[in-house]
Amino acid sequence: SSFDSLGLAAPLLQALTESGYTKPTPVQAQAIPVVLAGHDLMAGAQTGTGKTAAFALPVLQKLLPLASSSASPARHPIRALILTPTRELAIQVEESVKAYAKHTPLRSLVVFGGVDIRTQTPSLMKGVEVLVATPGRLLDHVEQRTLQLGQVQILVLDEADRMLDMGFMPDLKRILALLPKKRQNLMFSATFSNDIKKLSEDFLTNPQLIEV
Ligand code: AMP
Repeated sequence: SSFDSLGLAAPLLQALTESGYTKPTPVQAQAIPVVLAGHDLMAGAQTGTGKTAAFALPVLQKLLPLASSSASPARHPIRALILTPTRELAIQVEESVKAYAKHTPLRSLVVFGGVDIRTQTPSLMKGVEVLVATPGRLLDHVEQRTLQLGQVQILVLDEADRMLDMGFMPDLKRILALLPKKRQNLMFSATFSNDIKKLSEDFLTNPQLIEV
């Protein structure tokens, strides 16, 4: 299998070539067509399997028709929200998104706690299509009205099991309530506990299951 045959667009294929990726990993080969087809997804995948590209590539592709090269922030509402349990993971995920999006007009940004919130506001106000965030800081920004979630079409929960372990369930529930009801949901987790099954029942609709 090749990235080409998975149906990825030219600007993404070019970025992959430049990243030195020659073929998709198993989770990528399985997840990319499912996400492109618009299904919800529950994927069991550990770090190191290539799970980041498995969601980032099809998410970017789905947003490509909406990409604007306009400088106006109003033209760059958040379309995809990627939640991660830790700041380290958030930074890493956003670096990957940026690398895969480099030949597209799509913009991305990362926000996380533990730093002065004011330093994150100007970039946020410029508008980004893809926001990577830790849950608490995302809610801080919502409260300060420095971001809006009313146009989110795709939600990704990365390392969902760690998010539950770290006690993010109440924050996740608050965030879910702020999102449009009609959206695509992707959930990645290294383990399938009963709590994870419960979470996936709560927020995925007819999900396709993938385990690598
Ligand atoms: P992840 O599981 O998303 O943390 O990715 C693990 C590592 O594999 C990262 O350094 C990626 O850059 C790299 N990677 C992801 N997909 C591929 C691929 N198809 N070919 C080669 N390396 C990859």
